Amino acid sequence: MGLLYSELAAAMEQLESTTKRLQMQDYLVRLYLKVGPQDAANVTYLLLGTLGPKYDSPELGVADKLVLKALSIRKGISEKELNDELSKTGDIGDLVKTNLEKKQQQTLMSFGDDDEEQVAELTVAQVHADFIKMAGKKDKSSQSLKLDILNGLFQKATPLEAKYITRFITQRMRLGVKDLTLLEALAFVTPYQWDDHAPALAEDIRSLGALVPEVDINPTVKSVLGREASSLNASEEIAKNLHIALKRAGSPPPEAAEIRASIEQRSSEMRAMVKRMRGRIERAYNAYPDIGHIAHLLIIRGPDMLDDVDVTPFVPLKPMLAERLPSLDEIIEKLGRCALEYKYDGLRMQVHVNNGQVRMFSRGMEEQTGQFPDVVAAVKEQFKGSSIIADAECIPIHPETGEILPFQVISRRRGRKFGLQTEDTTVTLDETQKHTFEDDYPVALALFDCLFLGDVGGSMLDEPYLDRRAKLSEAFELDDRITLSTQIVTDDIKEAEKFFDTAISSGCEGIVAKSVGEDSTYQAGARGYNWIKYKRDYRQDLADSLDLVVMGAFWGHGRRGGVFGAYLMGSFDPETESFQTVCKLGTGFTDEMLARFTQELGEHVIEDKPDNYQVAKALEPDVWFDPVAVWEVVGAEVSFSPVHMCGFSALKPDVGLALRFPRLSRIRDDKDAYSATTTNEVIGLYGSQGKNALWQ
Ligand code: AMP
Repeated sequence: MGLLYSELAAAMEQLESTTKRLQMQDYLVRLYLKVGPQDAANVTYLLLGTLGPKYDSPELGVADKLVLKALSIRKGISEKELNDELSKTGDIGDLVKTNLEKKQQQTLMSFGDDDEEQVAELTVAQVHADFIKMAGKKDKSSQSLKLDILNGLFQKATPLEAKYITRFITQRMRLGVKDLTLLEALAFVTPYQWDDHAPALAEDIRSLGALVPEVDINPTVKSVLGREASSLNASEEIAKNLHIALKRAGSPPPEAAEIRASIEQRSSEMRAMVKRMRGRIERAYNAYPDIGHIAHLLIIRGPDMLDDVDVTPFVPLKPMLAERLPSLDEIIEKLGRCALEYKYDGLRMQVHVNNGQVRMFSRGMEEQTGQFPDVVAAVKEQFKGSSIIADAECIPIHPETGEILPFQVISRRRGRKFGLQTEDTTVTLDETQKHTFEDDYPVALALFDCLFLGDVGGSMLDEPYLDRRAKLSEAFELDDRITLSTQIVTDDIKEAEKFFDTAISSGCEGIVAKSVGEDSTYQAGARGYNWIKYKRDYRQDLADSLDLVVMGAFWGHGRRGGVFGAYLMGSFDPETESFQTVCKLGTGFTDEMLARFTQELGEHVIEDKPDNYQVAKALEPDVWFDPVAVWEVVGAEVSFSPVHMCGFSALKPDVGLALRFPRLSRIRDDKDAYSATTTNEVIGLYGSQGKNALWQ
């Protein structure tokens, strides 16, 4: 029949009454020892207030109103009366319990008389199944279904059971039970279920108890002797109390010391076993964070089964995390030759593909698939194998220039429904001009790790990092939308500094250094020095704006097809009378402005780059302009950049200055190019930020 729900409700009541970790552990161990094979997973989920693993648990939101309605039907008390009582007491779980405890009031609506009613006891399996039936249904007609189910449950439930049914369905479980609490308890369960230490320990305790003279069996000793020694903590506590009682009784018989030594030996062996189990359970959990499944395997098949728990597509792993160090020198000293990668400021995305189906999970293992249909489509198209789990950062990019945009942009996509047109465009635009949210806020996927690859036999966690990365680049057709994280492998500090500057000026928040040694495995769930992050804290916008010269332009694509989509902007250096690039500008324009500027500046296009334009090859635009226009530009900060020419080598050899995240503020018709912001002013701005510069 399985575990009765009353057993679970009683354990929940105990758990709710304490915040002490060991005590909770004790209650949980006792509970798990009663749980049969079919209930281990469900008991685990219900304790956590979910119906399944966190990443796959259907939502069960039942409103208080429905609970009051069911209670009203059950007890024949008006909903209004119950509602008034609720506003006084505030706790709907307790309200249900106390009202069910009250003697039945006779009304026409009530189902019968509590005292005479003989109803079958609820089991955990039934309650879980009923919750599942209620879950995930939000439409109007589902209300009556939910009410029917709840009526059925309240009909059978004891007041205490009804309290926890209510707590669960209104999502107000507050047992303080977390995944970690359960992992610990499960580690303690093992020696009791799968080892003969536990019965031997219990036998020792009984023998020790038998030595306590009858007269010395005081209430404390009596209470511990009466208790089931079902957990290690409890056993140790009982042994300690018996020992004290024996001492108090005068000279303990000689065998007492022997038994006491045996108890100590056994409990320390069991502690060591628990510790080993904890490590194994934790490893399994990091690779397969479904604690219900782990409890099920452990209880049914014993500790060895945990070794078979492995990385599996569509089961999100706990992500590996990075430590931090305060300087690049320390990082290179610690890791030696290592991989340095851009640290993108986006959303961590674990991409799972299996047989053509794609699902994506966030850092917190929440499903993200629905919010990024464009990424799903790109992954489907560009993944070449049968199954993979890839670790990546999803980053907002400029629709025109492909440049990385500030993180905030991506948040506009979260929580939105897709496939819908944005409100402001559907009405006024014709079919060809319509565009979707995905067009407005495009994202790219920067892949950086491969955790599972079906085509080479599954888990990749134990492979060295560069091997994992090589597999990643073979597995996908790479382009702008699905790229590999920009990476160099070096042990040269100068090269590392230059790479950091490039990362910052490209819109990243810093770099991540990664070990490339033999032991550079993927440590799911761990924060360690195999990955070290080094970033510059995000600063406020620059207090000052820059008046920059429009030096050239890049043709737009997609929605910006036929007009200039981005502009190359520069500062003026009076000493050399030259213009030096500071940023590429593609943000802050309306469609109307883009059309107007294309026309107006089109009249100033020149064939070749003027001699006094200092521009790196990599940044050469599609068209050059005479220096006729000055625009006011705002941005996040001035940072070092190896590609921009403003103040090149002035502060640091072979490095210039760039404006990060530039946005057009307004047109400065009142200024000509020679009164634009000077290079020296940009250098000054860099220096003035220095005071606030925060390095991590
Ligand atoms: P933090 O959130 O500051 O602890 O930094 C770690 C986060 O950086 C990860 O969770 C990723 O989301 C993100 N990240 C960005 N780029 C990379 C990269 N190349 N390698 C690893 N993590 C990255």
